[in-house]
Amino acid sequence: MDEKDENLTEEKRPENGQSDRDSSDDQYERICYSCRRTESKAGPMINMPGGICLCHDCMQKAFDTVLKNGFDISKIQNMPFVNLNLSDISRLNVPQMEIPQKQRIKKKTPKEQPAFDIRDIPAPHRIKASLDQYVIGQEQAKKVISVAVYNHYKRVFAEQSRQAAADTAQDDVVIEKSNILMIGPTGSGKTYLVKTLARLLDVPLAIADATSLTEAGYIGDDIESVISKLLAAADNDVERAEHGIVFIDEIDKIAKKKDMNSRDVSGESVQQELLKLLEGSRVEVPVGTNQKNALSPMATVNTDQILFICGGAFPDLERIVKERLNKSSSIGYRAELRDRYDDDPDILSHTTNADLRAFGMIPEFLGRLPILVTLQKLTEPMLVKILKEPKNAILKQYTKLLALDEVNLLFEDDALEWIAAEAIKRETGARALRAIMEEFMLDIMFEVPKDPGIGTVVITRSYLEKSGGPRIEMRG
Ligand code: ADP
Repeated sequence: MDEKDENLTEEKRPENGQSDRDSSDDQYERICYSCRRTESKAGPMINMPGGICLCHDCMQKAFDTVLKNGFDISKIQNMPFVNLNLSDISRLNVPQMEIPQKQRIKKKTPKEQPAFDIRDIPAPHRIKASLDQYVIGQEQAKKVISVAVYNHYKRVFAEQSRQAAADTAQDDVVIEKSNILMIGPTGSGKTYLVKTLARLLDVPLAIADATSLTEAGYIGDDIESVISKLLAAADNDVERAEHGIVFIDEIDKIAKKKDMNSRDVSGESVQQELLKLLEGSRVEVPVGTNQKNALSPMATVNTDQILFICGGAFPDLERIVKERLNKSSSIGYRAELRDRYDDDPDILSHTTNADLRAFGMIPEFLGRLPILVTLQKLTEPMLVKILKEPKNAILKQYTKLLALDEVNLLFEDDALEWIAAEAIKRETGARALRAIMEEFMLDIMFEVPKDPGIGTVVITRSYLEKSGGPRIEMRG
């Protein structure tokens, strides 16, 4: 080292061996008191009383330990404020702090009356009659569902009365859960049926999409997130959630994938993981969020009395059923029946468990969905009825909107047939109806209020075919 350098170093060195910390703090890196890592390695430090610092990781660890094991902060010595009573704070000259309310999980309070009374559960014919007001066609499906739901809640009631009577004796006859598997083309009313049912019965409903579910630990929603949704739909009331309905849509998308070499985390594994929910188990779910983390309170939900309905379009199932039926009818005396299923519009009603297994559903999964419901593809006359008959029919909604302007809205019959035929072309079932209506009603809704003399608007087929206009009748 030459003389110049030595002088420079000497100049920087603090006099009398005193630390130069006082003069220039930022020449030194701060060190975490706990893990001893420097700021450049552990990130920005948090200043603590007594001049010590903690890195973010150690601070988080401290919080986690406190949350897990509990900690009485008032036992810390020499900490201003923390040893004061809350009443003392008001005497100090500090702004009054608002003490946060603890988030409460509704606890099961023993009720004098069982939550479900059999008298409150409508008989199957009444459930079906109510469904009829909203859901067009699908007679068999509505009938099967009405009976299944009635039996489900009877089972719930029977179990509750047994528990209320503290009856520990084992009953020989155990009523099994009547979870439902619903098969039907897109837009045939699967979701609508379940939504209507939940509303009529006044039970919470959670709708989940099977395609978003993955095996725990993989990217996607955990299976338990379904129960989180139900709890949220029940306003975090565990007891109400336990009598709710869970609808898992697109269930055909979790069929076992053929020729899979890697782990099937969103298919067969999801079916496996759903088993425990379907048959009834206790699951821990976060309250108020579907993300599990250290800060969210947890609740235990028993899925034993939750009604699970799984629905899907099962697109290739028709072919599987047809092939099986054609094969069996080509043998022996039924040979003449061969190919008669080719044009059967209700072919899915012949579905068996074997067909569903061939589709890729695992037997254990099917075993937990003992009730099979099939919905028909909607025909043109059914679509016309859907347009005008349900309580909240689309036509009724538009008629009401125009009635507010004191204008009558009428549709010619062949105009309605045109809309239904157009919906069939789009292959999305009744879902297409609203889109088609909106396309041509836009102009009507825009033009009609311009002229207060208009008393009636009649939608004609030629208007829909764009070869003419609507028929307008003036007032008076
Ligand atoms: P998906 O079978 O694909 O679940 P949705 O239940 O979502 O079909 O049907 C879409 C919409 O079509 C519903 O919101 C409802 O308005 C209407 N819809 C479908 N089927 C029927 C039906 N059978 N009766 C009355 N409306 C229906």
